[in-house]
Amino acid sequence: MKGSKDALLPKIWTIGTILKWTQNYFAKKGIPSARVDAEVLLAYLLQKERIYLYVHFDEPMQEDELKAFHNLVKMRANRIPVAYIIGEKEFMGLTFKVSCNVLVPRPDTEILVESVLTRLPEEDGLLLADIGTGSGAIIISLLKAREDMKGYAVDISEPALEIANKNAQLHKIAGRIEFLQGDLLTPLKKCGKESFFAIVSNPPYIPPQDLPHLDPEVRCNEPSVALTDNRDGLEFYRRLLRSAKDFLRADGFLACEVGKGQADDVKRLSEQNGWGKVEVIKDLAGIERVLVIWKQK
Ligand code: SAM
Ligand code: GLN
Repeated sequence: MKGSKDALLPKIWTIGTILKWTQNYFAKKGIPSARVDAEVLLAYLLQKERIYLYVHFDEPMQEDELKAFHNLVKMRANRIPVAYIIGEKEFMGLTFKVSCNVLVPRPDTEILVESVLTRLPEEDGLLLADIGTGSGAIIISLLKAREDMKGYAVDISEPALEIANKNAQLHKIAGRIEFLQGDLLTPLKKCGKESFFAIVSNPPYIPPQDLPHLDPEVRCNEPSVALTDNRDGLEFYRRLLRSAKDFLRADGFLACEVGKGQADDVKRLSEQNGWGKVEVIKDLAGIERVLVIWKQK
């Protein structure tokens, strides 16, 4: 059988043939974004833009490139997210460093950033806080969009803060942000009362019983401290809504991402805690995804 199997393989692998093979292999492994992932990994390996692959389909692959690519393909086939393999992820048009110590920033979270940006007054020098900053994607995008603003970013995870710090340096906003390790709002106590215009958060909101149903990329690779509150999915909202008002200016707001089906519960919690007007913003799939909860009516 020796010859017949080998005859199916091209003698020389080119960019085009290796992409096709990898796409099929990923598809067989149940990876939904098979083609894009194959392209992103190959472009990363060759240190080129994805468009380069399309204009160089016939370019032969070198032996050492094939070997290195094989390792990347193996990782992806084991359902390691592409972002962890290549060490970065695009968010709000910016590139963020990521590692397995931080949640990979999600496209849905861009809606949180946009909802905040469109509600900020013109006023110079606003102060913002991001609770559970992870890679820093939210607060860094906000500070990049408004060069006059300053921010605090809190996370319980020291290794996450190291990544966020690197991202702040990468995006040249390190002088306008302070990273604080600790539990939710506790590290902000030193900032004084009512100093923030906005507090933003994408907290862990997945109830523990839902974890087994998540994609293997998330379930087996992302830090559980970033995913679940180990209660009912609402614990971080409960805690934020109890105490965030003290840190906000009278005209300010708390903006949170919420999980599918949580918006009504979080809205009710805000009413119970004496918050003002609540705006609910849907994501592209029509799911109520972001709540902007004003301090006053
Ligand atoms: N903000 C990032 C984003 O949107 O991509 C990461 C969000 S991730 C869903 C939640 C983050 O909250 C994680 O980085 C996790 O380490 C952090 N976290 C979990 N418990 C916390 C706590 N008690 N206090 C502060 N941060 C916490
Ligand atoms: N949106 C993420 C997911 O469903 C979870 C992030 C979170 O808990 N805030 O994978």
